[in-house]
Amino acid sequence: MASSAHRFLRFFAATSDDDTSKPVATDQVLPPLTAIERAHQRLIAEIAEFLTSCRLAATTHNLLIAHSAFSGEDPQLARAIGQRRLSGQTITQDWLDQQTTLEDQESAIRTLITQLEDSLDRFATTAHDARASAATCNAALASQVDRAAALPDSVTLADVLGLAHTILDHTRKLESDIRASEQEMRGLRERLARAQRDAEVDYLTGLPNRRAFESVLDRHYREAQAEVDSLCVAFCDIDNFKRVNDNHGHETGDRVIKAVAEALDRLSNQHCHVARHGGEEFVLLFRGLTKTQVREKLDCVRETFAARRFVNRQTDDPIGQVTFSGGVADVFAYTNPREALRAADEALYLAKAQGRNAVMAAP
Ligand code: GH3
Ligand code: MG
Ligand code: MG
Repeated sequence: MASSAHRFLRFFAATSDDDTSKPVATDQVLPPLTAIERAHQRLIAEIAEFLTSCRLAATTHNLLIAHSAFSGEDPQLARAIGQRRLSGQTITQDWLDQQTTLEDQESAIRTLITQLEDSLDRFATTAHDARASAATCNAALASQVDRAAALPDSVTLADVLGLAHTILDHTRKLESDIRASEQEMRGLRERLARAQRDAEVDYLTGLPNRRAFESVLDRHYREAQAEVDSLCVAFCDIDNFKRVNDNHGHETGDRVIKAVAEALDRLSNQHCHVARHGGEEFVLLFRGLTKTQVREKLDCVRETFAARRFVNRQTDDPIGQVTFSGGVADVFAYTNPREALRAADEALYLAKAQGRNAVMAAP
């Protein structure tokens, strides 16, 4: 406890520029920082630098966004921030909010779906109970009517019979209404299941989306850890894709994204999952292969794809060669899958920096 408190103090002593705010030095010799502590130190420094240099308020919202970008949890956001800064454009609150709105919407839809599911479950139970009690009531009434019908004729008996028939008609109608509601609910359930599936599928390529990938990665991570199996992740990003959009239009750009998606998806099986991470970027998971084997596999797809020549369908103009670059990381070489994704992303950007049309493995 004492040692972590000292480390905490030392962290602030090391990161603060303001001499007057430095804590009083202790004369104890402190153990060196662990790798994890150093990583935390870097993360806090990066977040602080980002918020202050962009003059963004240190609100919970901004701190969470900055944390997800710099911790590697959201490499796409990290890259969007990096590219915006590189291009010299200002990062405003509006711009940052825009980047996260989509994710917020998706999480709102998910909450709604869960709520809908809960209310459907409750309705199903109620409807089932009501139908069961209506059926019991009908049976009891029917037996009473049979008994009354067996008695000698009288005005009272005719009244009872009339009443019983009215009740019977009423309960039968109730029963049929409930059955109709149950049918409607079954339909709703199917629509909901479809909506849930749709929420995990990328509309353009038909590949699983980033959310679906994250849950598959979590599952494989737990399983591979338990079975001492290897697990690698990879990012692939189309090279100079902006040029395709700029020169041939967005529709042709979409077609190119689909072509890369199809090429990568051919690797899919129960040990390999391919997803569209967003934009012109794909994320992959490989179970049971080493980092070198994965790099070779992806490099093979890259080479085959680079040999193809594309044509703009609308104008017949040649698009020419389309290439992509990739980065691979061994998940268990890092503290968690998010760190591994970050390492794969860094390897991808090394491949970009070294001229593109290459697949690189993280160290
Ligand atoms: P690099 O080799 O460094 O990856 O360069 P790049 O041009 O591929 O990368 P950049 O990030 O500058 O541009 C990516 C472009 O992809 C910008 C964005 O408009 C476009 N894009 C993102 N999603 C889609 C999409 O669904 N369809 C189309 N047509 N374009 C998209
Ligand atoms: Mg690209
Ligand atoms: Mg990209």
